[in-house]
Amino acid sequence: MSDRILAAVMAAPRQPIEIREYARPDLPQGAALLRTGRSEVCGTDVHLWHGRLSGVPYPIIPGHVSAGVLQAIRGPLRGIHGTPLREGDRAVFFDVHRTCGRCRPCAVHRTPTRCVERRVYGITDPADEGLFGGWSQAIYLEPGVHIARLPDRVTFDQYIGGGCGLLTAVHILERAALRAGDTLLVQGTGAVGLSTIALARVSGAATIFAIGAPATRLDLARRLGADRVFDLNATSVDERLEQVQELTGGEGVDVVVEAAGSARAFEEGPYLARDGGRYVVAGHYTDAGASSINVHTAINRKHLDVRGCWGSEPAHFVRALAMLEQLGPAVPLASIGERTYRLDQLDQALADAESMRVTKAIVDPWASA
Ligand SMILES: [Zn+2]
Ligand SMILES: [Zn+2]
Repeated sequence: MSDRILAAVMAAPRQPIEIREYARPDLPQGAALLRTGRSEVCGTDVHLWHGRLSGVPYPIIPGHVSAGVLQAIRGPLRGIHGTPLREGDRAVFFDVHRTCGRCRPCAVHRTPTRCVERRVYGITDPADEGLFGGWSQAIYLEPGVHIARLPDRVTFDQYIGGGCGLLTAVHILERAALRAGDTLLVQGTGAVGLSTIALARVSGAATIFAIGAPATRLDLARRLGADRVFDLNATSVDERLEQVQELTGGEGVDVVVEAAGSARAFEEGPYLARDGGRYVVAGHYTDAGASSINVHTAINRKHLDVRGCWGSEPAHFVRALAMLEQLGPAVPLASIGERTYRLDQLDQALADAESMRVTKAIVDPWASA
């Protein structure tokens, strides 16, 4: 790798993506440089591009979940599994860093994803501080970042196919307290919804329902494990409720997961759950506006358990990796990644992700025209 590193920078919302050149960073003790193999364009990147996330220090290098090869290490350096990391290792890292362990959310409430100090690669790390994003030929892994060797049988494309959606899905099913034999309905068939379906399938869910669009994503939802899919645009709220009731003995499902990011989804979701069921809300990562519900019929009388799900923790990263290693190609997550883009094609990638022309856009920063 030469001393000049190319990165795609989002200078401000709605601005064309710029390619900038960075010098190869000097590594302090405990740091590493990852030669990026694959990164991704996820729903969050589209939100970043629209300026819909608060507290983002533009300009940034987007791409918060990535995989690559450890190019340089100023060691010794141990991975999150406790084993030494070596130059040349295929590696991935947990995008959340600087979680402090001392603030009230960390130390008192034990909700580290709400830590006041935490930063996230590709989202809340400024581009003028260095290579803190995956839309770059190399990523600076500062001391303290959780790094893991990528298991031999897991390809870059498989890891990125799941990507941030897979980590979120691990957290969602934890919040959902999914038990073997539970029925589950996922609202939304983007990367988070699809990963949740795949994970629920191998976690012993009984019937899995999905509501989403377009048809290509519904096909993918079936391949990943959904038993019954509803086209959001071809069915009405009443039709979906009626059919879910019919297919669950008149009860509704045990667990509903909101992964749609739509205010309308939250108005529908509670009614698809059975009385005493669980409703996990994960799709409203940005402000999608107000939902209007009748609290009496949607929550109180249903004895419904409603839970938010924000970000992920190192444990979700480790468990996502373990699952990928164990199941390998049995879970076709790589098929969520539909098309691979070069650094100079990322305006197109964002447009394709936004318009749902691709389920997930993958980034290969070393691909050349
Ligand atoms: Zn993401
Ligand atoms: Zn903290």
